[in-house]
Order: sequence, then C-alpha cells, then structure tokens
Amino acid sequence: MMKPVDYDVLIVGAGFAGAEAAYALAKKGLRVGLVTTSLDTAFLPFTPVFSPFPPGSLLAEVGQDGLKGWELHSRAKYRLECQPQIHLLQLSVTRLLLEGQRVVGIESWEGPRKTAPRVVLAVGSFLCPQLFIGDVVEEAGRLSEVAYPDLFQHLQSLGFAFSPAEATVAEQGGTPGYRVVYQVFAQGEWNPRTFRLGRLEGLYGVGLCVLGQGTYAQMAMEGMRLAQVLTDTAPP
Ligand SMILES: Cc1cc2nc3c(=O)[nH]c(=O)nc-3n(C[C@H](O)[C@H](O)[C@H](O)COP(=O)(O)OP(=O)(O)OC[C@H]3O[C@@H](n4cnc5c(N)ncnc54)[C@H](O)[C@@H]3O)c2cc1C
Repeated sequence: MMKPVDYDVLIVGAGFAGAEAAYALAKKGLRVGLVTTSLDTAFLPFTPVFSPFPPGSLLAEVGQDGLKGWELHSRAKYRLECQPQIHLLQLSVTRLLLEGQRVVGIESWEGPRKTAPRVVLAVGSFLCPQLFIGDVVEEAGRLSEVAYPDLFQHLQSLGFAFSPAEATVAEQGGTPGYRVVYQVFAQGEWNPRTFRLGRLEGLYGVGLCVLGQGTYAQMAMEGMRLAQVLTDTAPP
C-alpha cells in the first residue's frame, strides 16, 4: 500500500522559478508544498520589471511595466496565499528525505519534515554563495538574505557536482552595488528536457540553480515549463 504523503509536489524556493511552477501546478489541481527560507522575499525582483511577461504566468497576472520589487512581491504573495492548492511554508531546507535512491521529502532546520513523491530544487543563487559588498564578504544569495550551508553540503555528500556562477548588481537608490558568486549544478547533473537531477529518483531542478544565468521572465517560463512536464508525466 502507498504511504500517505503531504503533497503531490514539494518545491524548495519561492523565487520566480519555484513560485511560478507552484502556481501553475496548483491551477492544474496538484497539491503543492512551496517551502522557502523567507516568505517576505518570495517572488522579489532586485530591479523593476518590464513587459513582455510570459503569457499565462503569475508574473503576467501581477506584473506591470516599471513595477518595483516590493509591490510585485506583495501582489504575487497574495495570489500564492489565496491559492488553496498551495501550502506556502517558511522553512530552511537542510536535507532531502531518502528511501534508497528515491527522494521522498525534505527535512528543515526548524524541524518539520514534509513528504512528496516529487521534490523540486528552485534555490536560485543560494547554494554556497559569497556576497561581496565593499570589503565585506557575507554568506548570502542576495543582499540581506543569508544562505545556510546545510543543503549544499548534503547535496555534495550525495555526489552532486557543482560549478561557480556569478552575478553583479549595480548601485541603485541608496543601495550599494554588490557581487555574488554562487554554485550551480554542474553540466550533466541536470536534464533540461525532463528537469531531473539524475542521481536520485523523484528529484528535479529549475531556475537559476541549474541554468546559472537568466532573466526573471526566463525563470518564470522555466517554472511554467516544469509544471507542464510534471503534469504530463506520472510520479516515480
Ligand atoms: C545577485 C543577482 C542579481 C540578479 N539581478 C537580476 C535582475 O536585475 N534582472 C533579472 O532579470 N535577473 C536578475 N538575476 C538573475 C535571475 O533572474 C534571478 O536570480 C532570479 O531571481 C532567479 O530565480 P530563481 O527562482 O531561480 O531563484 P531565486 O529568485 O533566487 O529564488 C530562490 C529562492 O529559494 C530560497 N531558498 C534557497 N535555499 C533554500 C533552502 N535551503 N530552503 C528553503 N528555501 C531556500 C531562497 O530564499 C529564494 O527565495 C539576478 C541574479 C542574481 C544572483
């Protein structure tokens, strides 16, 4: 007999890719656990957004030319919270729950464990990042957003390989410019057609953590594409 699970799909990271995937899956009737370190930075851009927005996306529903980060964030968070098929949770994921070579859920620093037959990593620039701002170096994926090393170290211990990527943010409106060096899954770990992180059954990757670079709109489109792939294929 199948064990009961908390969700059909668990998504780690409520950035542009993860939140968009969750929204699209929920609209297709799947029960989604959307887990992220800080709910107050879900779907938050660094810079104002401009069209074209991907048709049918959450970004298109809440976006407007020139809309600033916090306004877009608050509109998107409201939509996500109003979607009954999504359980939006503030947790820092530290490890994957495994049964042999199959991923069956996540463990969190705060304690709760959550289960699903399919787990998606949408963790952006938060795998082992170093943020350089003037002479200061922080372990943060974005300004003021601390990254904990546990999940990255766990993935390394499971044999996943990584390569470095880098992004620079220009000084704007009183916020100093900074640079982030972060790790992304190395070539060969991720299949861009199926989104699978091939070392483990039931594990998927989407967005910056597998692509390395790209725009907000591209991340949103990738989230929607993932939702389509997961809807079209049976769970492992
Ligand atoms: C510094 C920087 C600046 C950028 N500026 C722009 C820009 O101006 N315009 C543009 O078009 N693109 C920009 N990009 C590129 C890219 O479009 C964005 O990074 C985009 O936010 C990536 O989307 P994502 O969903 O993959 O990841 P993110 O938006 O980074 O979301 C990842 C989420 O995962 C969460 N998370 C991470 N680890 C865990 C964990 N262990 N447990 C739970 N939650 C976790 C984080 O809290 C975060 O909310 C920038 C990239 C970087 C790194």
